[in-house]
Order: sequence, then structure tokens, then C-alpha cells
Amino acid sequence: MTDYPKPPFPQQAQPVPGSQRKMEPYPDCGEQSYVGSGRLSGKIALITGADSGIGRAVAIAFAREGADVAVAYLNEHEDAQETARWVEQAGRQCLLLPGDIAEKAHCQALVDKTVERFGRIDVLVNNAAFQMTHENFEDIPDDEWVMTFDVNITAIFRLCQAAIKHMRPGSSIINTSSVNSDMPKPTLLAYATTKGAIANFTGGLAQMLGPKEIRVNSVAPGPIWTPLIVSTMPEEEVQNFGGNTPLGRPGQPVEVAPIYVLLASDQASYITGQRYGVTGGKPML
Ligand code: NAD
Ligand code: MG
Repeated sequence: MTDYPKPPFPQQAQPVPGSQRKMEPYPDCGEQSYVGSGRLSGKIALITGADSGIGRAVAIAFAREGADVAVAYLNEHEDAQETARWVEQAGRQCLLLPGDIAEKAHCQALVDKTVERFGRIDVLVNNAAFQMTHENFEDIPDDEWVMTFDVNITAIFRLCQAAIKHMRPGSSIINTSSVNSDMPKPTLLAYATTKGAIANFTGGLAQMLGPKEIRVNSVAPGPIWTPLIVSTMPEEEVQNFGGNTPLGRPGQPVEVAPIYVLLASDQASYITGQRYGVTGGKPML
């Protein structure tokens, strides 16, 4: 299928963190289309931000590939229950874990609860993030800058540190970076800075964990139609979202999920330390 929605999109501002249920058009997370083939059979995955958007698409794909999934999210309970419904419909187990990953203790609790339920972690997907638009540098609040780093990069450090104790050789960590990691959008200054940090952290950690045979990669999406966008971007940008890519449209979450499946799978056994773009044609060279 290639007839995914193109701009213009209707007006639809939402408060942070946004609700997928209220989006028009409804983001496609592969609910009706993703077909699995046992590529993650028996694996245990912890995915942050898996209530909606890219994280939900990854959760659905992982479940249909045979993985049980722990779904971490902030507070969007209805979106999270929808993800759980699809995971369970695939015949897999789903553990819902709400809470704020800016808190150190919560990062540890996410790993503890996942291990308590499933016994280990084979795949950690660090995908949750915060961003906010500011036209002027002077307008960025100090506490928002710090919070953006806490959620987007410090939580990844903490989750990786807690999780690797429960990971066997062959396990995989996948961090969601962004096209902003080397093409920073100035109005997303703090966010873009953390996305550069995530790509860099990924390269360094992959080298540290190589001897343990734990692989670490990042995915760098371009514009993807998710609640993050409608809850943090100016109306005009939302209406034209993705229109400036070579494909002339935003990606749908389902179009990003397959690279996560590959990176989580045993087929990717020699792939580590890399960043993979899914940008609709914006070059990342
Ligand atoms: P999304 O809003 O569906 O997912 C982000 C999730 O992060 C939210 O559902 C929320 O539950 C979670 N989250 C936010 N703050 C949190 C906190 N303090 N504690 C715990 N969880 C928290 O949006 P998405 O676009 O699917 O985002 C997923 C990832 O993709 C993010 O890392 C984002 O930066 C990245 N990304 C998105 C785009 C895009 O255009 N949508 C582009 C590049 C990168
Ligand atoms: Mg959400």
C-alpha cells in the first residue's frame, strides 16, 4: 500500500502528550496491515512510548513477530489499552507500565516490573520523547530544557544501565533518534540536541557492549504522523506536515516499524552502532 495520507491536514491542536484517538486522519500503526512471520519468536521486549505513534506500531509488529511486550508510557491510558488489545489479539502478553521516565526510580521500576513478569529482557526500545516548539532562543524555559534532556537522553542511559543486567548475548537495544540528529530544526533546539546525543550515545554504547554481544542501534525518523506532532507543532506546520519531503507526505508509524523488527531480530547479528534513517527521502549522508 502506498496511498497514505498527504497534506493538507485538518486543524487539530492538542495538549501534550496528545491522544492518538483524537487525530484526523487516524495514524496507521499497522493494526490492519502488518503481517508477521515469527522473526522475534519468544523474545521479550520493553518499549517506551508504546501507547501511540511509532512505539505502538513497533509493539504491534513485535507481537505479530512472536514477542511479548512491556508497554511503557506517560499517562495516555486509553491509547495504551488500545496497543495492549492489538498485542493480545496477536496471541502475545502485554504489560502496561504508566509513569514518568524523567524520574530515575521509575526507569528502574520499568525494568524490574518487566523482569518480574517475563524473566528477562531481549529487546529494549527507547522510544519515548518530549519536544516543544519555540521561535526564540530566549523563550526556552530553563526547566523545560532540563526536562527534555531528562526524558529524551538521561532516561535512555538509566534504562540501558538497568536493563543490560537482564540481557543475554544476542540481545538488542534500539534508540529512537531523529532526522534532527544531524539536521537540527532550530525551533526544536533542545529536542534536536538530545536526538544528536542519542545517535552519539548509541555509537559509543555499542562499542562498550560489543563484548557482551548486546547490539545497540538507533533509528532516525523523518516526519511521521503521530500525537507528538499535533501536540507540539504550530498549526501551519501540522497542516503541511511532511509536504517538504521528496515523497510529499509524512510517514505513517507502520512504515517505520520494519527497521525495528530487523534490528531486534537475530538476522541483524552483525549490525550494531549504526543509525538508520526513515525519512521519506531526506538524505542522511
Ligand atoms: P508519540 O507521541 O506517539 O510517542 C511519544 C511517547 O512518549 C508518548 O506516547 C508518551 O507516552 C511518551 N512520553 C513522553 N514523555 C514521557 C515521559 N516523561 N515519561 C514517559 N513517557 C513519556 O510520538 P512519536 O512521534 O511516535 O514519538 C516516538 C519517537 O519518535 C520519539 O522519540 C520521537 O522523538 C521520535 N521521532 C518522531 C518523529 C515524528 O515526526 N513523529 C520524527 C523523528 C523522531
Ligand atoms: Mg502517546
